Amino acid sequence: MEKIAMTTPLVEMDGDEMTRVIWQMVKDQLVRPFVDLKTEYYDLGLEMRDATDDAVTTESARATMRLGVAVKCATITPNAARVEEYGLKQMWKSPNGTIRALLDGTVFRAPIMVGGIEPYVRTWKRPITLARHAYGDIYRNVELRVPGPGKVELVHTASDGSETRTLVHDFTDAGIVQGIHNLDRSIASFARASMGFALDTHQDLWFGAKDTISKTYDHRFKDIFQEIYDGEYRERFDEAGISYFYTLIDDVVARVIRSEGGFIWACKNYDGDVMSDMVSTAFGSLAMMTSVLVSPDGAWEYEAAHGTVQRHYYKHLAGEETSTNSVATIFAWSGALRKRAELDGLDDLAAFSDRLEQAVIDTIEAGEMTGDLAAITTLEDPQRLSTQEFIAAVASRLQP
Ligand code: NAP
Ligand code: MG
Repeated sequence: MEKIAMTTPLVEMDGDEMTRVIWQMVKDQLVRPFVDLKTEYYDLGLEMRDATDDAVTTESARATMRLGVAVKCATITPNAARVEEYGLKQMWKSPNGTIRALLDGTVFRAPIMVGGIEPYVRTWKRPITLARHAYGDIYRNVELRVPGPGKVELVHTASDGSETRTLVHDFTDAGIVQGIHNLDRSIASFARASMGFALDTHQDLWFGAKDTISKTYDHRFKDIFQEIYDGEYRERFDEAGISYFYTLIDDVVARVIRSEGGFIWACKNYDGDVMSDMVSTAFGSLAMMTSVLVSPDGAWEYEAAHGTVQRHYYKHLAGEETSTNSVATIFAWSGALRKRAELDGLDDLAAFSDRLEQAVIDTIEAGEMTGDLAAITTLEDPQRLSTQEFIAAVASRLQP
C-alpha cells in the first residue's frame, strides 16, 4: 500500500508518563502505517526539559510559529514531589504555560460525542466548545505573603518617571496579596480568535466575566469584546445567522446547564481551566475532549486536554495491565494532520484524518472501549479493553 505523502513537517512535542507510552503506540500503529509521516521532533519529556534548562520548550514553541502546526503530548508540570522524583535542577514552569505565553493564543476545547456515552446533563444534545483565553491573569501572577502590619499598593511608573498609586490594603495583621495583569492586545486577539472560530464553525458565541465586581479589570474584557464585535464582526454574524452575547459569568453557568449545547463559550483563563474540566466530565470523560491552541498569527497546536495519567503509568511500569483512554491523543494527531492537509492542500491526508476519527468512534460504538468509558456507557455488555487492545481495535478498522 502506498503511504500518504506530507509536504511540511508537523512540530511534534513528545511528553511524559502514560501519555508518552500511548504517543509511541499511536504513531507506530495508527499513523505511520498509512502516512509517510514528517515531523520536527522536540522531546518535552521532563528529563530533556531539565537537561536543556527548559530551552527545548521554547524552541518547540518557536518551531510552531515557523511551521504553523504542532501536536503535543501531555507533560508533567513539576511540583515539589516531582523535583525530588526526577532530581530536577529547579521546579520548571508548566510547558503549556510557556507555549501559550509565546503563541498568545486561545485554547478551544470540544467534547468528542459518541453513541453510548451520554452527557450527564439531560438537555445537552450538541457539543459545547470552550474558548479559553491562554494569557495572563493568575497564570502570570506575582504573590506576596504579607508578614504583618503595613500598606500594600499598586504602583505604575510611567516612562517619564511619574507614578500612579492605588492602595490594595492597609494590613493591620499578616495576610496575602496577589498581583495579576492582562494586555489589551491579548484580550483583543482572544476576542478575534473566538469570533473567527464562531464564524468558521457556524455557532453562537457566549462570553461571561464579572464586570459588576471587577469594574476595571473584567470590564475591560467586556468592552474590548463589544468594540471588536461591533467594529469587525456584527455584520458577518448577522449574515451567518449566528449571535454574540455577553452576560455575567454566573448567569452564563446557569444558562449553559439549561441549554441544548451547540455554541462556543468564551472564558477568561481561569474560568476556562475550571469550566473545561466540568464540561468535559459532564459530557463523559476528560479523555473525550479535543483541545487546540490557536494563535492570532495563525499557528495551531493540538493536544489532549488531560494530564499524563500518572497512576496508570506506575501500574504500567509495574508490569500490570492498564486501560488508559487514548482518544484525546489520537484526536490531537488527527486534528494536526487535518490542519496540515488544509494548509498544504493535501486532500488524501485530510481524508485520512476523517477516517482515523471515524475508526475511533466506530470502535467505541461497537462496544469496544477502555475502562473509563466502559464504566459509564449506556451500551449493554461493553468490552473493557486494555490500552494496547483499544489501539489495536482502532488500527484493525483502518486497514483498507
Ligand atoms: P491526569 O493525568 O489528568 O489523570 C487524573 C485521573 O483522571 C487519572 O488517574 C484517571 O483516573 C483519569 N484519567 C485522566 N486521563 C485519562 C485517560 N486518558 N484515560 C483514563 N483515565 C484518565 O492528572 P494527574 O494524574 O493528576 O496528573 C498527572 C500529571 O499530568 C501531572 O504531573 C500534571 O502536571 C500533568 N498535567 C498535564 C497536562 C497537560 O500537559 N496538558 C494537563 C493536566 C495535568 P483513574 O486513576 O481513576 O483511572
Ligand atoms: Mg485544568
